[in-house]
Amino acid sequence: AKAAGRDTHRFYAEAMNAEAVAHLSTRSGLRRALERGEFLIHYQPQISLETGAVTGAEALLRWNHPDKGMVPPGDFIPIAEDSGLIVPIGAWVLTEACRQAAQWHTQGLSLSVAVNLSALQLQRGDLVATVTRALAESGLDPLLLELELTESMLIQNTDVVMDNLRRIKAMGVQVSIDDFGTGYSNLSYIGRLAVDKLKIDRGFVADLTRNHDSAKITAAVIQMAHSLNLTAVAEGVEDSETLEALRGLHCDVAQGYYLGRPGPAEAVERAARQVNPF
Ligand code: C2E
Ligand code: CA
Ligand code: CA
Ligand code: CA
Repeated sequence: AKAAGRDTHRFYAEAMNAEAVAHLSTRSGLRRALERGEFLIHYQPQISLETGAVTGAEALLRWNHPDKGMVPPGDFIPIAEDSGLIVPIGAWVLTEACRQAAQWHTQGLSLSVAVNLSALQLQRGDLVATVTRALAESGLDPLLLELELTESMLIQNTDVVMDNLRRIKAMGVQVSIDDFGTGYSNLSYIGRLAVDKLKIDRGFVADLTRNHDSAKITAAVIQMAHSLNLTAVAEGVEDSETLEALRGLHCDVAQGYYLGRPGPAEAVERAARQVNPF
């Protein structure tokens, strides 16, 4: 039993070591990726449920790894967050997304771009300078930039976080709460922080037409958004039935595979130029 215990111990030690090595190699890989330009952004269109027009796009980070190919963000963003590399990577995303939206604007397309922020970025004193620089370099109208935060990032209402949000709002940048409904249940911050949009988590949207509770929650979030003068966005729309249900609930904006998968900027451009009445 003692030997088995030792073996078990060694097994765990080796497993942990392998994990640590994988982690480390991803960490140095991430640093290299930034230097060598291996990151790219895919854009997913957001559609007005009133007109059917594309109104903007969410920027979703991708890592085009030289050996592994396209690595999804779930595989490397947690490591980028742990190592602090999310700060320079996030600054790159902001710069690139603003540049793209400014380019759309010069092409006659007035599309907003939504960028996901990490907790660490929101906690740092240099966030406003980073956003200011991205806007100045691109010439993008601040009203066309949207920052997506999650509820959990707002419960750490430190002075820095509150100051960052206040200053970002003062610049005219839009703020939305991502994955709404999955996080903190104290809603008082929404009024206090003057956010602009609620993005209903796709967990509720996905089974809207099959699950009565999800339908009720989605309807309630849309109502609450409207009574606070906020825009309601549904993400994870995967079929026409869900789209129709959301239109019936007077949801404002929708996003999901049914309306367009994340892809190169050109795909959003093409969709935006199409007249697409429902
Ligand atoms: P998220 O912000 O909730 O982004 C939406 C995710 O849902 C994206 O996954 C998108 O591809 C996926 N999605 C969109 N429509 C549908 C649909 O109809 N059905 C289903 N099943 N999924 C759909 P993705 O691109 O893998 O991103 C995962 C997460 O990684 C994002 O979740 C976000 O939290 C994070 N992320 C992505 N880019 C960035 C970034 O630049 N910075 C930070 N900090 N996080 C990012
Ligand atoms: Ca998001
Ligand atoms: Ca989301
Ligand atoms: Ca998420």
